[in-house]
Amino acid sequence: MRRGVSWLSRRTAILAVLLSVFIIVMVAGGIVLSAIGEVSRHANQLDDDRSRQTTAGAVKTFLSQLGATLNDYAAWDDAATYSYSADGMDWMISNFGEMSENSALFDVALVVDTRRNAILAYHEGAPMKVPADQFFDAALWRLLDAAMASTENPEARGFVRTTRGIAAAGVALIRTKTGETNRSDDDRRYLVFARHLDPQVETLGQTYVIKGLHLAAPDGVEQNYVAVWDPAGQVLGKLAWPSRAPGDISYSSIRSKVIGAIALFGFLLATVFAIGLMEMRRLRLDEEASRQLALTDRLSGLLNRAGLFKAIETMIEDARSSKSDVALLYLDLDGFKEVNDAYGHGCGDDLIRSVSAGFRFLTPEDAVLARVGGDEFAIAFLRKNCDTAAQSLAGMILNFFDEPFQIGERLVTVGTSIGIASSQIGTINAEEVVRRADIAMYKSKDSGRGRYFFYDTSMDNDRETILALESQLRKAIAEKQLSVVYQPVVAASSLEITGAETLVRWNRPGRSPVYPDVFIPVAEKTGLIEPLGIFVLKSACDQAREWPEIGIAVNISPVQLRNPSFAAQVAEILQSTGIEPARLTLELTEGYLIQNPQRARQSIERLKALGVKIALDDFGSGFSSIGYLRQFGFDRMKIDRSMVTDIDVSENARSLLEATSALARSLGIPVTAEGVERESQAHVLLDCGCDELQGYLFGKPMPAAELSALLVEQSTGACIVQARKTA
Ligand code: C2E
Ligand code: CA
Ligand code: CA
Repeated sequence: MRRGVSWLSRRTAILAVLLSVFIIVMVAGGIVLSAIGEVSRHANQLDDDRSRQTTAGAVKTFLSQLGATLNDYAAWDDAATYSYSADGMDWMISNFGEMSENSALFDVALVVDTRRNAILAYHEGAPMKVPADQFFDAALWRLLDAAMASTENPEARGFVRTTRGIAAAGVALIRTKTGETNRSDDDRRYLVFARHLDPQVETLGQTYVIKGLHLAAPDGVEQNYVAVWDPAGQVLGKLAWPSRAPGDISYSSIRSKVIGAIALFGFLLATVFAIGLMEMRRLRLDEEASRQLALTDRLSGLLNRAGLFKAIETMIEDARSSKSDVALLYLDLDGFKEVNDAYGHGCGDDLIRSVSAGFRFLTPEDAVLARVGGDEFAIAFLRKNCDTAAQSLAGMILNFFDEPFQIGERLVTVGTSIGIASSQIGTINAEEVVRRADIAMYKSKDSGRGRYFFYDTSMDNDRETILALESQLRKAIAEKQLSVVYQPVVAASSLEITGAETLVRWNRPGRSPVYPDVFIPVAEKTGLIEPLGIFVLKSACDQAREWPEIGIAVNISPVQLRNPSFAAQVAEILQSTGIEPARLTLELTEGYLIQNPQRARQSIERLKALGVKIALDDFGSGFSSIGYLRQFGFDRMKIDRSMVTDIDVSENARSLLEATSALARSLGIPVTAEGVERESQAHVLLDCGCDELQGYLFGKPMPAAELSALLVEQSTGACIVQARKTA
């Protein structure tokens, strides 16, 4: 679900970035294009303005040229003479009328009087075909009126409409160069020149470099034009031209390039973005891979401790939402260390891989499998009412361990102890579930291994006591609070002390003592048994120097026996104390032999090679196979107190003990009976063939000084049983 959400948000993020890139490119492109558009519009405007000014100038020049020509002709002494004389017509025709032909300066020439009568009317070198006031519109007479009205400068000019089109027209009083007419106002004559615009437009266009200049109707829709007005303020027409739009031309010529550039920019941006995205993806994958690697156990390929925690946390979250439970099986291999010690780490690694493969096969698809320590594993899964499933899985796993593992050419037997805890509806957090399963697993170990336990709260108390004991014991060892006592062992026949068993004591100052039954297992679990064992062994051997007449026995924990350098340590102590090895008996319980026979045999052989004796301790308290006696070459068997208790009252107990000691004797192995408290027991034991007896009857575990005293008494002939009885 969270995955889905993150994917969705990533997709949204990508889309958002893509959209941003798109918008950036579009906006940037828009700005650039609109700027260029602005420039081009401005260029168009400038060009249009220039064309307008030029055209306006051209129109003005057109008119003023006509004006100048007219002035030349009208203010002319000859004209003043002939225009007013009765026989001046020929002169006027040849100098005015005929000059209108093929003239670039004017194409109409009139001579009119003040009453608008045309005395001469020529158009393009020939007499006008229509009367002058039909040829011209009324505007001409306005010009005439204006010229007549002015005394200073009796000339007027402007544009007028004619039957041929629009023309620049000028009206000027015919006069001498100095301005005389010698005529009354009414008698005056006026020279009219007109020059039609229409035929000149093309020439104008060429002269002023305005392409497409043309004359358009006054109501035309041209965009670029200069209006031509008559003196009455009426628009006669328009000199128009198509916009050259140089900006547009430039714009269109560069637009494709600009668009190309923008597209390139967009492409670049998209490429950069894509590369960035790919890089981010790669980084994310790298990160993911390294995170995954950090959560994986390299040897087994399963999750490691961190991975397990993460997975359980997720499961617990899911359990809350789905109202189901998380089950956790915590497994510790029994006997793995021995395999490792005996066959090397390569074999150990192979075993871990085989076990992992087995777990993978046995666990449900949706379960999480982890290797959380050297030989510790965990399986977690999510179920409704998970206990039944956890129980059946635990059962299957235990069955699986019934068969030995084939590692290379070897068959290796290991077991597993399982602790089960659960988080109902996710109410218990990951750390606590793991802690609980771990405690339950220890309970399985303590209860004999190869089994499973569900966590229950009472375990916590045990566990807490153990943890507290551990730290106290560590301190006790460091502060030398441990001591040893010796329990005498007597010969069954003579009741003479022949040996002593060394037993460790922890007397806490100001507090009640802790019994070995309690702290030895703690020491074994925590590794403290190693320094403790060495301390006891050293103390015993030291003490034995003072008691040359008896043997000395020391209890050895399986944990010590596992240590490959244990035999060397024993040898070192024997040497440093100078004790004859045959005087030392090491007592072993059978548990370790069952667990790891091969490794145990090796260890025992090494010890025996030193010359020390090995006794099988607590016979009858557990599996009690006589076979072990022969198999491991024990020098002595110690019958457990539980087998001794009832021998003087129960026939059954007595015959069992008889049979047991007979078997031992048949193997040539001497037997010590422990826990002898009553004389009646001692008698039976003697009858049964036990050659040594040990128990409160002969002496409780005691400080060395006390035993020393007993030994002194013994050497002087006092009976040990008597001594004990009187104590
Ligand atoms: P264990 O090796 O079987 O030692 C004999 C235990 O039986 C001693 O208990 C001793 O006090 C007790 N016992 C002896 N005679 C009698 C008797 O007549 N009646 C009764 N009721 N008990 C008797 P302790 O000293 O409490 O030791 C208990 C166990 O702790 C030992 O059993 C041994 O397994 C372990 N242990 C003691 N000292 C050491 C040690 O230095 N190293 C190791 N590894 N284990 C030790
Ligand atoms: Ca013992
Ligand atoms: Ca014992």
